[in-house]
Amino acid sequence: MRASWAFEEGLWRLRLRLDAGEELAGTVTDGQRVELATDTCHVRLPRSTGPTATGRTATGSAAIGRTGTGSAAIGRTATGSAAIGRTGTGSAAIGRTATGSAVNGSAAGLDSVHPDLLALAAWTVAAPWAVGRVVFDRPISPDLAEAFHSGWGIEAGPVGGTPRSGTRLAISYSGGADSAAVAAMLPDAPLIHFRRVSHPRIPNRWTHYRSDVLAALAEKTGRDVTPVESDLEFLLRSPRPGYPEHHAVMVGAILLADAMDLGGVALGYEIGSRWLGGGRYVHRFTPDNPMWSGHGPWGRLFAAAGLPLVLPVGGISEAMTMRLALGSELRDQVRWCLRGDGSGPCGRCGKCLYKELIQAAVERRPMRTTITADRPVARKWQQPPPYGGQEMIEYGCAHVPGIEDTPFARAAEYLKATPESTRWLERCYPPAVEEIPARWRGTIETIMAREFGFMEAGDVKRVESWGGR
Ligand SMILES: [Zn+2]
Repeated sequence: MRASWAFEEGLWRLRLRLDAGEELAGTVTDGQRVELATDTCHVRLPRSTGPTATGRTATGSAAIGRTGTGSAAIGRTATGSAAIGRTGTGSAAIGRTATGSAVNGSAAGLDSVHPDLLALAAWTVAAPWAVGRVVFDRPISPDLAEAFHSGWGIEAGPVGGTPRSGTRLAISYSGGADSAAVAAMLPDAPLIHFRRVSHPRIPNRWTHYRSDVLAALAEKTGRDVTPVESDLEFLLRSPRPGYPEHHAVMVGAILLADAMDLGGVALGYEIGSRWLGGGRYVHRFTPDNPMWSGHGPWGRLFAAAGLPLVLPVGGISEAMTMRLALGSELRDQVRWCLRGDGSGPCGRCGKCLYKELIQAAVERRPMRTTITADRPVARKWQQPPPYGGQEMIEYGCAHVPGIEDTPFARAAEYLKATPESTRWLERCYPPAVEEIPARWRGTIETIMAREFGFMEAGDVKRVESWGGR
């Protein structure tokens, strides 16, 4: 794999070139099979974030107001063909970008990004398809190269740069309950919001996904929000557009890390995603989660780039992040539905159904939904477990009055969960706090102790035997 970046008129353009032996079919760290659709994507950063910014981020509302207009610039894609570039002729082009972008960049410092950050950002997009080696267009630090080698068995280079570091913690903010909980916990941290925009070569058949609505809600938080626009999700031909790796949502934070002096990125992954197997994919205790554990390949790679991953809510459940988010001043901007418009969530999708169960449980009230058990979005709850996010299905079934009259009636019969059997989901799992980098650990630990308390040995055992029953 060869990955090269070019900076032009406020946006970074990434081009991937497959080596012989690399296929359009690839595998994400979570095991999902994916197919590559095209070889370029771009990331547009807000214009006014500069390297001289200190304290607060220098992202003004002027920059924010500019969203949604990228397509004119995007239209000038470097290669008109929809074919995926192969190496062989690629090296000349790669060599050109190395010097070109450093000279041609005009926006305040956005073009001078540390090569380790560029490599990391590229890897969040390229990783599913790379085999054996990856060649970047700028030399990376030995530490980063070592993280590629130990994490993936990948020879990454050229090697020769020096490491980077930063000081501030930014939040990768989607606007869902989990990231809103993190934002509520860390009121001074800047938010960086990834917004999907169309790709010039790929028709957008997914207009029901309202990234514009989510971006508008993020702006309404009144927080220091930096919107970052990208079409990188359209690199996936199948199963559908999406992040090539989950970490690609952080591409903006990575490319802005020097300009914003970032020394860490906080994410809203909660105990289910971090420790219980990621719900959707497996159903077991996962201390060595390859995506989110501090000692896993991704955790080590981000740390080597001076931007460690930080999971402030990694020790608490989705029910508790929801309680935190809906009890905060961000309540009116929290939105987990990707389909709803400005007036509210759609109320019809699977995400709305799942999250309504959790919210009803948190609020100890009956569910408010028009979805019935015979609807396709409710089908999986008519089957026996295991379920994705099963710990929250148990919590919901244990706490929602009248669960027998909801689409979760069958699941409740299978699971037989009670308030007692799910009480561990209201407390914090201590190893999640131990995993937080030292400079932010004390803050998080204090909040966890105050808001939730820590699990006792019996609760810890519930976590560590999860899925083993
Ligand atoms: Zn919905």
